[in-house]
Amino acid sequence: MDLLSAQAVSSYLERSPALHLVDGVLLDEGPGDDVIDPATGAACARGPGASRALLDRAVAAAARAQPAWAATPVEQRRAALLALAGVLRESADILAALLTLEQGRPLARTRDEVLRAATLLEAVVQIGLDPDLLRDDARGRVFMLHRALGVVGAIAPWNVPVGLAVPKIVHALYTGNTIVLKPSPYTPLATLKLGEFARDLFPPGVLNIVAGSNALGEWMSIHPGIDKLSVTGSVATGKKVMASAAGNLKRLTLELGGNDAAIVLPDARIDEVAPALFAAAFVNSGQVCMAVKRLFVPAALHDELCDALSSLARRVIVGPGFDPASELGPVQNRPQYDAVRRVLDDTRSRLGAQLHAGGQARPGGGYFIEPTVVSGLAEGCPLVDEETFGPVLPVLSYRTENEAVERANQGRLGLGASLWTRDIDRARQLGGRLIAGTVWVNRHVGADAEVPFGGARESGIGQQFGRAGLLDCMQSTALYLPARTEAV
Ligand code: NAD
Repeated sequence: MDLLSAQAVSSYLERSPALHLVDGVLLDEGPGDDVIDPATGAACARGPGASRALLDRAVAAAARAQPAWAATPVEQRRAALLALAGVLRESADILAALLTLEQGRPLARTRDEVLRAATLLEAVVQIGLDPDLLRDDARGRVFMLHRALGVVGAIAPWNVPVGLAVPKIVHALYTGNTIVLKPSPYTPLATLKLGEFARDLFPPGVLNIVAGSNALGEWMSIHPGIDKLSVTGSVATGKKVMASAAGNLKRLTLELGGNDAAIVLPDARIDEVAPALFAAAFVNSGQVCMAVKRLFVPAALHDELCDALSSLARRVIVGPGFDPASELGPVQNRPQYDAVRRVLDDTRSRLGAQLHAGGQARPGGGYFIEPTVVSGLAEGCPLVDEETFGPVLPVLSYRTENEAVERANQGRLGLGASLWTRDIDRARQLGGRLIAGTVWVNRHVGADAEVPFGGARESGIGQQFGRAGLLDCMQSTALYLPARTEAV
């Protein structure tokens, strides 16, 4: 099937619409909202919209299926999930085309998203779930046993739809839970199609995918049949979910916003670090939770770095994701596009602000904004203090490393941070002072399957990946046994 244009993908969806997956059955309940192609601003497909009754059916199916799934030997759960990785790889072209249509990124990038999800999945299911032996001495033995929680609800955002949904499926199902997954209303198509392609891999009710508006997310938050919610989204949504999840004290994993700082140290060579910093700031047109969103640079290197980043920004080709020449796509949706333009307007009005490259929204229907490098700002304005989530990077000049670390630590967020230097010992010292869930040295962005990923402060609660991420989906029980020698 040749899905190399928006028209081709839209007509494929007319012949084969994206449907909910509930209890092993594909359902056409809806209609949901139009899905908008961000490259044109026009409707390109219609997603289904789940009612509250359909959510109830999905949760009931997940609850029915859960005990048998938890009792299935872990090797079989692992095998079913490895088969899901196979489905991701086999259907990478079609899933990538759907992602490019709804999310906007160039095809090569959305294909990477699907393949990387498969690779992460394969690594996560190699992590052991055995009990921990905490003590074995004259006082006795203590084991920590880990068992599934029950039904996991998962709520995903629009910036990396499949790449962020698949880890939620893997964490929940590998640990013996069943799942009801909701993609973003902006990007439901690829996730629903993944459910269709994978529906025979699991017993009915184990994997359920229902699409709908933000209200569906709220219904999930208050649903008494959901034992745990894993949400990736904005801080505002995370707070609402936390409040409404109180009814049955749902376990929560919240992966929320970031305003990540990258600190270039005085010994860094600008020609070496600029391309990697540019990529880490403008990946997915800045719409990545852990993208570089504040760039601190010593005053002596400031102009050189601004020049290097600006020339990269001028060279990068921004365009529709189906154009093979495009390197960056549009902002994904209209409200986000308007929000980024408001930040640009505010930035232009600030005394001292200098826009080195970009700064313009492109005329026409699509949500294109040129990669923008800004200097001359400090704390006290939205571009620096808040998460912009778009292709606009502030470069902030500093005098001492202490000052840079203190300023990087300002604010309510703490997702990631990075240091750029040839002095790794110094990076290690400073890295321990940065308040963030992840600190990288000479790189930024990326999570590995065996390394827990989560946010400090309001960037989140709990973790994904690593054994800690899997245990976030489990209830632990301390089992005290008498000492081996003790007569019973
Ligand atoms: P969003 O919060 O608007 O939406 C995320 C999901 O939550 C969507 O499925 C939406 O329908 C649902 N939702 C909205 N309101 C809800 C409510 N009241 N109750 C329950 N669910 C609700 O976020 P977004 O705009 O889709 O995504 C961008 C945000 O996500 C950014 O802040 C970004 O930093 C963050 N993000 C974080 C991570 C991470 O791992 N920490 C990864 C990607 C994105």
